[in-house]
This record gives sequence, C-alpha cells and structure tokens, in this order.
Amino acid sequence: MVTLHESLGTIYDEVLHRNPGETEFHQAVREVLDSLGPVVTKHPAYTDAAVIRRLCEPERQIIFRVPWVDDQNNVQINRGFRVEFNSALGPFKGGLRFHPSVYLGIVKFLGFEQIFKNSLTGMPIGGGKGGSDFDPKGRSEGEIMRFCQAFMTELYRHIGEYTDVPAGDIGVGGREIGYLFGQYKRITNRYESGVLTGKGITWGGSLVRTEATGYGTVFFAQEILRSRGESFDGKRVVVSGSGNVATYAIEKLQQLGAIVVACSDSSGFVVDEQGIDLELLKEVKEVQRGRICDYVDQRESAELGQGSIWSVPCDIALPCATQNELDDKDAAVLAQNGCTIVAEGANMPCTPDAVRLFSEAGITFAPGKAANAGGVATSALEMQQNASRDRWSFEYTEERLAETMRGIHDRCLETADEYDTPGNYAAGANIAGFTQVADAMLALGVI
Ligand code: NAP
Repeated sequence: MVTLHESLGTIYDEVLHRNPGETEFHQAVREVLDSLGPVVTKHPAYTDAAVIRRLCEPERQIIFRVPWVDDQNNVQINRGFRVEFNSALGPFKGGLRFHPSVYLGIVKFLGFEQIFKNSLTGMPIGGGKGGSDFDPKGRSEGEIMRFCQAFMTELYRHIGEYTDVPAGDIGVGGREIGYLFGQYKRITNRYESGVLTGKGITWGGSLVRTEATGYGTVFFAQEILRSRGESFDGKRVVVSGSGNVATYAIEKLQQLGAIVVACSDSSGFVVDEQGIDLELLKEVKEVQRGRICDYVDQRESAELGQGSIWSVPCDIALPCATQNELDDKDAAVLAQNGCTIVAEGANMPCTPDAVRLFSEAGITFAPGKAANAGGVATSALEMQQNASRDRWSFEYTEERLAETMRGIHDRCLETADEYDTPGNYAAGANIAGFTQVADAMLALGVI
C-alpha cells in the first residue's frame, strides 16, 4: 500500500471514523488520496482551504422510505438513497442503482467516483449517485412500474434540471427511466426533459446514450492501442457482465474487428470461441430477460465456463459488471495468459491489489472514472439537446463521444507525465479530475 502524504493520512483517518462500515466508500477515497500526495505538495492552497476534507463529505445525503404494493397485494418497503456529493462544477449528476446490495456505502463510493469522472469529461456537471435496495429480478412489469413511481414520489422534490439530474445504472435502464420520468411529470406538472437522462428517443432522449458507456470504454482502450501502433483487429477480448455496458462494449469491439470470447452475468460466464453472437445475447438478456446459461442452450459453439471468467486467455480484459469483481488472483492469471490491457467499463471492478499487480506485471490499466466516462458525457450531450430543444444524428453524437474519450485519454496521460508518473492512467485521471473540481471549489469560497 502507498504511504499517504501526512495531511492526506489525517483526512483518510477522519473518513474512516466518520463513515464506519462503508468499506467501498473507504476504498474509493483511498484510491484517490493515493494519487494526490504530489498535488498537495505543489499546491498548499488546497490543504489550507480544506478542499479535500470538504470533497470527502457529501453536500447532502437523502435516505427515504419507498413503500409499494406487490402483485399479491402485500406492502413492500425498500430504502431509497440520493447522495448529492459535489456541485462545484454543475448540477449533481449520476445514475440510480436498483440492486439488493445497495446501501449508503455503495452509493457514496459511486457518488465520490462520479465527481472526478464528471470533471474529466470537461462538461459542467457535478457528482452524485442514488438508488435503492430494491431487487428488480423476477418482478413483473406492474411491480417495476409501481416501485419506480413510489421511488420518484419522494425523489422528485430533490432533483431538477439545475439541481440534480439522475440517470441509469445497474438495474435501471430505459424502462425504469420511463416510469421515473412519467411520475416526475405527473407530480410536478412539468415536461422538464433535463431532469433525467437515458430517456427514450421519442420523448427527449439522445441517440447513442444507450450505447455510450460501452462504446466509450472501447474508444478509450482503442486510444491505448493506437499509442502502441496497434488496433483491435484480431484481438481476443473478455468482457464481464451482459448488461448495458457489456452489451455495447461487445458491439463496438466486434465492429472494430476484435473477437469477444467470453461474457457473464451474476450466475456464471460463457465461453464462445467463435465470438459472442451479440444478437442472441441481446435476445436472451433484453427480450427473454433470461440468464447467461440460456445463451449456451441456444448456441452450439458456446459452453458454460468454470471458475473465474478472468481465466479465459485474452489480450484485453474489460470488466463491465460490478465493483471488486476482479482480484489479485484474477490479475495474476490475466498476466500469465498474456493480457496487456485492462480497461474498466464498470465502476471500481478491480480491487486495489489487482491494480498493484497490473502495474508490476506491466499491464496497462485504465480506471473506470476515465474509461467509462462516455456514459455520463453523453448524458451531458442529452442535456444540451434538451436545453436547446434539438436532436442530433447518431453519427454526430457518436463522434462527439469519441472525441470526448480521446480528450480524456490524452488528459490522463499528460497529467501523469506532469506529475512524474508516465503511463499511469489512474494517477492521471485522479489528479486531472481533482484539480479542476478543487480550483472551482477555491473560487466559490467555503460553502
Ligand atoms: P446492468 O445493465 O444492470 O448490467 C449489470 C451486469 O452486471 C449484469 O450482467 C449483471 O448480472 C452483472 N452483475 C451485477 N452484479 C453482479 C455481481 N455481483 N456479480 C456478477 N455480475 C454482476 O448495469 P450496467 O449499467 O451495465 O452497469 C454495469 C457497471 O457499469 C456498473 O458498475 C455501473 O456502475 C457501471 N457504469 C454504468 C454506466 C451506465 O451508463 N449504465 C455508466 C458508467 C458506469 P445479472 O443480470 O445476473 O444481475
């Protein structure tokens, strides 16, 4: 573990003390603080104005009851969260996650990461995140709708185009955003398109938003390859997950000539040496709402994998499912098998020990706050279109996304060089993301 700069060590101890039991949040804070030693040495003003201590404390945390009635007429109670972490750069912005594992520590880790990610996009958006411990799996359409309506019945009073703009995340896709937006519109009597992103194309959404996070992660990895004079053509890639991010990462990888040999869900993983049949995968996951084993039943060249998905030999790995899904043992196997790039489509999928191992093994590591920023960047493009009552073409929007990802990639590398850690994308992303927010916080005074 890196020894923290003295003032950062004190801040980290305070974070541990004030937020007991929130291990994912501790991990996310520690990962950023590990990079900031040279920054506080060079810019004492950040410490003098307690910028980092303020950054570690959310501006506002909202926890609420979500009561709803299931198909059997039983009253169900879930817990809802919205953590409005930092609005120095713009309205709070970040997704909603519906998953049984959601608790305050998960929402805070995601909200904290979001501050730096949003800053890296160069767009005027602050950081926040929300969600619920509601489990959508196995719920009927009616139950999903009633839950979303109940959730928004409290959330609506905290959000708004200029205040806080939620989007999707695990368990929240276009269907859920539709029900959430419908309830917001009904309660407020306002067609306020800019209050949520990830909307459907016919009611204020942006083309490319659905694809953006997965495509963006691939564009980022493409920049790494380009810097080595290589391309995706013929590369073997393993992608974990089979949700929104994974699906569109696979789509773009295949368009660029890569062979995606494995993907997964929380029940297991499949190996398909012929390359994942994306149409079939979409049919199984989006239409049939089935499990990954259903893919194997419908595809001859595929088989269910044993052990860890990261044991499937590959040139490039894209973890696109969930936090801490790739540990040091997985990292060692990836290195042994000749993997040279790991780019995070998910948020914090690699454990700190895995990241250390990548560095020792010479694997290039692209952290999620940079590599998966394409989703939120395209959300900001959706907000631009909403504000100007405009609608852009797929090609134009995709080019804006690609350009943003190139920009983030270059900024990470330039910042890593500036702080004497050449090629260290994690340090570059943390420092570049931090300094922009920190300068805005200094300018806005102690608030
Ligand atoms: P999603 O559509 O709900 O898909 C999540 C995928 O991950 C599913 O295949 C799911 O499998 C799998 N998964 C979830 N929990 C798991 C676990 N504990 N173990 C193994 N697999 C698990 O969500 P998503 O939007 O693709 O999000 C995936 C990741 O990307 C998350 O870390 C999210 O925060 C991050 N991200 C998303 C966006 C975005 O725009 N959506 C933007 C930036 C970052 P099951 O179906 O079996 O649950």
